[in-house]
Amino acid sequence: MANINVNAITRENIRAMKAYSSARDEFQGEASCFMDANENPYNSPLNRYPDPHQRILKKEISRLYNIDDSGIFLGNGSDEAIDLLFRAFCIPGKSNVISMDPSYGMYEVCAAINDIEFRKVLLRNDFSLDADAILAAADENSRLVFLCSPNNPSSNLLDKNSILKIVRNFKGIVVLDEAYIDFSGFEGMLPEVKNNNNLVVLRTFSKAWGMAGVRLGMAFADKEIIEILTRIKYPYNVNQLSQDIMLEHIKKNGLKNKWVEEIVKARKFLEKELLKIDTVLEVYPSDANFLLVKTKDPKRIYNFLKDKGIIVRDRSAVSLSEGCLRITVGTESENDTLLKALIQYDNL
Ligand SMILES: *Cc1c(COP(=O)(O)O)cnc(C)c1O
Repeated sequence: MANINVNAITRENIRAMKAYSSARDEFQGEASCFMDANENPYNSPLNRYPDPHQRILKKEISRLYNIDDSGIFLGNGSDEAIDLLFRAFCIPGKSNVISMDPSYGMYEVCAAINDIEFRKVLLRNDFSLDADAILAAADENSRLVFLCSPNNPSSNLLDKNSILKIVRNFKGIVVLDEAYIDFSGFEGMLPEVKNNNNLVVLRTFSKAWGMAGVRLGMAFADKEIIEILTRIKYPYNVNQLSQDIMLEHIKKNGLKNKWVEEIVKARKFLEKELLKIDTVLEVYPSDANFLLVKTKDPKRIYNFLKDKGIIVRDRSAVSLSEGCLRITVGTESENDTLLKALIQYDNL
């Protein structure tokens, strides 16, 4: 159980400010004439501003994850929640945040935008999390810890007890990014949110749900943190089209589960076949929808594949990832195309 003083680590200006109160904050409900928001009266329904609090969509997400609406923040991708966490809790030029390394690049970019010192703590050689090393990097100005499980780009799930050790001992907020959790077969750490008021779990509709184009990310946390993020977001941060399309798509939950099953099956196949390729040295165990593949000559392979119209991600310059390419699991035919190309490369 962690119970930190959230108010004490909230920036003073954020604590003091009042949120913008939109027309749709001040009146909700049914009416015959909406003449309060300076909207064009024609071109219904897109002439109207969307619900700033995404109530209907949140209700559906609340049912889906069995979490009260007051514990849910929705943003323009999870990237919005990441940025808002910096703006709410980190003082530019003074605070610092800690992240495991290697991990998702957006944490460091957001730190740079907000002028926050970014402390990287190396994962162990097998990409496992060293909780003590993370805690040792913290001082009285540390506000956020970023953990990513399954981790991008190493593709492994982090040990639950190591995550909990950090949550219980860190005096700031722990942001656990579970963008890839659906592919892991593990339910994730959402059930721990109610026991720890400093744990923020990020989920996204961009990966397993197949909705990257819609730009919808979720943050789950204690209602005190959610209230702060909600207060500082743009009033209409999730547009009407995204809310409507996602609402319909969530009802097709079965489709997402079927996709996940297909992708996990294809991942296992791809892993087995990649190991037969001469230039592949290692395929790291994956709990996600991609594989981190150590090769003899990543740049040359990258270019060879690119010339054939197959784009993978060169991660060879990333910590602990020398020689590595990151390959997203594709459709059966995309995976075959990739494997055929690599066999061709072997025979050059
Ligand atoms: C892809 C990804 C996301 C998703 O970000 P969105 O802004 O929701 O699309 C979040 N975290 C990690 C680690 C990712 O790889």
